Amino acid sequence: MKWEDNVRKVIPYVAGEQPDISDMVKLNTNENPYPPAPGVTDLAKEMDVEKLRLYPDTNAEPLVDVLSEYYGVAKNRIFVGVGSDDVLAMAFLTFFNSDKPILFPDVTYSFYDVWANLYRIPYKTVPLKDDWSIDADDYKVPNGGVIFPNPNAPTGLFEPLEKVEEIIKANPDVVVIVDEAYVDFGGESALSFTDKYENLLVVRTFSKSRSMAGLRIGFCIGSEKLIKYLNDAKYSVNSYTMNLPSQILGAEAVKDDRYFKETLSKIINTRERFKKELTRLGFTFPDSKSNFIFASHKTVDADHIYNELRKKNIFVRHWNKDRIANYLRITIGTDEEMDKVVKALEEILGC
Ligand code: PMP
Repeated sequence: MKWEDNVRKVIPYVAGEQPDISDMVKLNTNENPYPPAPGVTDLAKEMDVEKLRLYPDTNAEPLVDVLSEYYGVAKNRIFVGVGSDDVLAMAFLTFFNSDKPILFPDVTYSFYDVWANLYRIPYKTVPLKDDWSIDADDYKVPNGGVIFPNPNAPTGLFEPLEKVEEIIKANPDVVVIVDEAYVDFGGESALSFTDKYENLLVVRTFSKSRSMAGLRIGFCIGSEKLIKYLNDAKYSVNSYTMNLPSQILGAEAVKDDRYFKETLSKIINTRERFKKELTRLGFTFPDSKSNFIFASHKTVDADHIYNELRKKNIFVRHWNKDRIANYLRITIGTDEEMDKVVKALEEILGC
């Protein structure tokens, strides 16, 4: 059909499945196994539903206020969105506008090439080294922008801040985005560099470390100028991206820092324990500083393990893609959940 010639055709991102089976162990989308902070539950119960009659604050003030105080950053240096996917999509649209290709690792968050294709942004993927680390020198070439997650996904590997700064320093003429979706699980944030580098954007999410994937809250911090440009683009698409409950409940989550740190340390402890079990079972993996582990077995195919786990209602992530086809990405759940995984793996591997 002729009209179809004018359609913007895209190959969409494929999110991990959301099965709803009782007694399943769901470790495929890096969700947090613990509930949101208790204050969030209380507030949700008392919420003034009558207010939903009105549009929410366009700038999500209730949330931005709290974030500004928590991170010690001026309000006009914070931008929020519907999950960090929304923030990242807006950042791609706003900042990656050059004829030169943007650069990101070959093994990374698989939404980056989707946005690049959607917005017709030229891009080049940069192979990670054999140990899955980034070679900063690869980013010292002409480009239209740089983006990488730290820790990277799906490898879980954290790059030291010296390397991050080396990449930022080498790219003063483009916007550099550091996607810190998983940084709370043991990495170090590049946030303080946003005071020094006007072209650096650090992106964060409430979906993982704050147990709020269902509310879709993301934000980023950068220079006043970057945030202004982002807002200009956002207000040209949709003024009211973030709904009122997300603004209010998100703010409440940030106020309970003790709960936040407690759940983080539980996940980190479980992760370290699980690493030992994986090693005992014959897996190798990069040393994850995130809430997942990217593991490959020395003798048994990832595809086989993935399917056998599924039969036992244990869901992990597997991609049939170059370089990573023999790896499984396993989210860290509760100790009990990880014990079930270990037991299942023992059965599958016959050990
Ligand atoms: N960045 C990375 C590296 C991710 O893995 C994810 C989760 N899929 C996101 C961003 C987006 O998360 P959300 O939209 O839930 O904030």
